[in-house]
Amino acid sequence: MRFEIYRAESASILSPTSGFIAQAGFTHSLSPARNCTFACTYCYVPTMRIYGGLKPDDWNHWGQFTTFKSNAPALLRRALRPNQTIYCSPLVDPYQPAERTECMMPRLLDELIARPPHVFAIQTRGPLILRDLAQLERLAARTTLRVSFSITTDNDRVRRLYEPHCAPISERLETVRRLRAAGIAVYATLAPLLPCDPEALIGLALDATDRDIIGDPFHVRAVKKCGATTRDAGVRISRAQGFTEWHDPAFQTAVTERMRQKAAAAGRRFATGPAAFGWLAETLAEVSHDGNGKRSFGTIGN
Ligand code: SF4
Repeated sequence: MRFEIYRAESASILSPTSGFIAQAGFTHSLSPARNCTFACTYCYVPTMRIYGGLKPDDWNHWGQFTTFKSNAPALLRRALRPNQTIYCSPLVDPYQPAERTECMMPRLLDELIARPPHVFAIQTRGPLILRDLAQLERLAARTTLRVSFSITTDNDRVRRLYEPHCAPISERLETVRRLRAAGIAVYATLAPLLPCDPEALIGLALDATDRDIIGDPFHVRAVKKCGATTRDAGVRISRAQGFTEWHDPAFQTAVTERMRQKAAAAGRRFATGPAAFGWLAETLAEVSHDGNGKRSFGTIGN
């Protein structure tokens, strides 16, 4: 895949949250770049346009280039505070293909290790995260670090249709296993839910992790009147491939209920939306225990 890498100074690096991420309990988001070279066909970010901090070239040429915030490490050094709960990132995958040569994340992790926030959560689908495993282990020793690793389907043919520039599912599962083996708190995040065998997919996630499972169906205008939604390119693929039911709220509810039941049978939770993403923002002090010795979590968001 061909893409261009640009660099530009930014005025800020940590943004106060709003909407979905704020409802999940995060106080700030950290986006090391603008535009994402994974170029997923369904990506919600370009539909946010200027409200996602984008420029017209970004949403018109999504995934064809990225612009790194060249002064991000220096900005982060000045902006970090111990009470921040940071999500990285709602607008770009921090381990996108362009990160392989840019090496921005190791510099940001050094700043985080030096001045750890309250919670730091990384949202990614990039096995490149393993490059930074030693730094992640150092950060996890200093604060609450969570990795939310996206696994979208159990079917690689489907994966190639919707996200051809992302790693195969087997490689993603292996990345989750290696993070877990290193002692990193890693969640399998089944989002967005692409066409799949729901029981098989959640089975893979339950095997690869020892945590509750986060999910989220395609966002659709029928139930989400405003804000980010599924990019047209992904909707067109669903139409062409006969997968339109995966954008139907009633079908989505039936699928997620089947997944919830399979997770429950394994003694784990499966949930969607801000309540599920809120698991990434919690710290142990916020986790209570019920009478059976099982963990229970205060509801964050909805
Ligand atoms: S990895 Fe995330 S931010 Fe990047 S294109 Fe895919 S969905 Fe969008």
